[in-house]
Amino acid sequence: MKVWVDDQCCRGHGMCLTLCPEVFSLTDDGYAEAISPEAPAGFEAATREAIECCPEQAIRERCLDQPGRPSTPALP
Ligand code: SF4
Repeated sequence: MKVWVDDQCCRGHGMCLTLCPEVFSLTDDGYAEAISPEAPAGFEAATREAIECCPEQAIRERCLDQPGRPSTPALP
């Protein structure tokens, strides 16, 4: 599972860090970033919860069949 944070949408709420600090961190500018482009094994569920709970829908999951091309998160 590959994720990235769209820095044009992130507002630095920190919800993703609270839900999954193994995958997300804050930059010096106060916005989130994915620590690693690939969520570690065992943290897929927490990563998905972070995607679903991000108030700005700023966390994107890369399409596995289209490397490098991000997809937008599903609408609730
Ligand atoms: S929850 Fe969303 S808006 Fe908030 S810091 Fe994380 S990615 Fe950014």
